[in-house]
Amino acid sequence: MKKKSMKQWILFTALAAMISLPACGAEEPAAEPAAAEVPAPPEEPAPTEEELTALRREETVEPLLAEAETLARGYFYEEALALLQEIPEEFAQDEQVLAANAEYTEKSASFVPYDQPVRHIFFHSLIVDTDLAFDGDYMSNGYNYWMTTVEECRAILEQLYANGYLLIDIHDLCTEVTDEAGNTTLQAAQPLVPEGRIPLVLSVDDVSYYDYMEQDGFSKRLLLDENGDVKNLYIDQNGEEHIGDYDVMPIVDTFVREHPDFSLRGAKGIIAATGYEGTLGYRVNDPENPSLEADKEAVRAVAARLKETGWSFASHGYGHRHTAEISYNSLVEDTTRWKDEIASLVGDTDVYIYPYGEEIDYPGQKLTYLQSEGFRFFCGVWASQPFVVVKDGYVRQTRCNLDGYTMTMRPESVSDLIDAASVLDPRRPALE
Ligand SMILES: [Zn+2]
Repeated sequence: MKKKSMKQWILFTALAAMISLPACGAEEPAAEPAAAEVPAPPEEPAPTEEELTALRREETVEPLLAEAETLARGYFYEEALALLQEIPEEFAQDEQVLAANAEYTEKSASFVPYDQPVRHIFFHSLIVDTDLAFDGDYMSNGYNYWMTTVEECRAILEQLYANGYLLIDIHDLCTEVTDEAGNTTLQAAQPLVPEGRIPLVLSVDDVSYYDYMEQDGFSKRLLLDENGDVKNLYIDQNGEEHIGDYDVMPIVDTFVREHPDFSLRGAKGIIAATGYEGTLGYRVNDPENPSLEADKEAVRAVAARLKETGWSFASHGYGHRHTAEISYNSLVEDTTRWKDEIASLVGDTDVYIYPYGEEIDYPGQKLTYLQSEGFRFFCGVWASQPFVVVKDGYVRQTRCNLDGYTMTMRPESVSDLIDAASVLDPRRPALE
């Protein structure tokens, strides 16, 4: 029964019932009307073939078209086309279905290789409350140099998006090639991007919410909210708890939800995790931690959700040590500990993000060791220009921190990414 005629019928029967009810205060209850006296519902005019077809289209074709469109906005063209295949045969020639098919087929074939070095930007955990971060204590100046505020991060994303940037997976920088003898090597690849878009790799360093940040206006940890989304717990100056977007991960998640075309097939960023104070705000390093098991479980759950939603992890060293300076044995010990305590919860990774951006020798004993531990991507920090090298089984890429120092002292080095002057938070004090 069609909605409209159903409504008419309900109205009609309600009206009929009212007529048959006794008037209020009537002396004698009216006799129950005989069934025959209730007027029969009007004969339903049989829906026309056209109406039935329209109804079937509404129920089957439209939801699939909508879902395919959402996929296509994030460049999942093959998945969108596969979905269109599920549309029933009778609608195969539907104008909208044909148009969607043509559009996604054309767009999926229109990706072009990007032939410049791919930029890689990074942040540290974001400053939520500038009053606390810049309160003049011994950490204030460091935060002013190396950190970014929530407002700045949002402005940066808006500008990157407006300037044509697109988040990609770092693994798009190379392809694995196997020769006739069965040896596998890495070869530089030019990432395929939609025409006119500029690929960009994003990472976030530490994400431990270290003890030293306590009382300084940073988020406390990452967690899953009631919808299963990754959010932050932030405790404000008055001790009030807030769950929301207070660090890069949930902020990017929300931004990509609103702008799916900012992410190539769901790619978001890399979390460069240390281990000496646990990770993601959970002290899983501490055997005395009374909630150790629950915290480990929380890290597993948050990490799993992050990975499901386009994030990945890198080793940033267990102890955030100077990789180039420490002894070979110290590097082995540090790496083993990272694997035992962090990779065991967040999963293995092939990305190594140097603490302090301090790179090791290529080639060298330490590089050979880290490669033997499965690391293939090595990220330092760029001085002036983005830099990517693929060689001897590794990819080396430098990164640029969009922080107070870069935006204040070297805005020209990132002028192709953002207009630093318009991003800088006016609440920052002068750099000392
Ligand atoms: Zn770091």
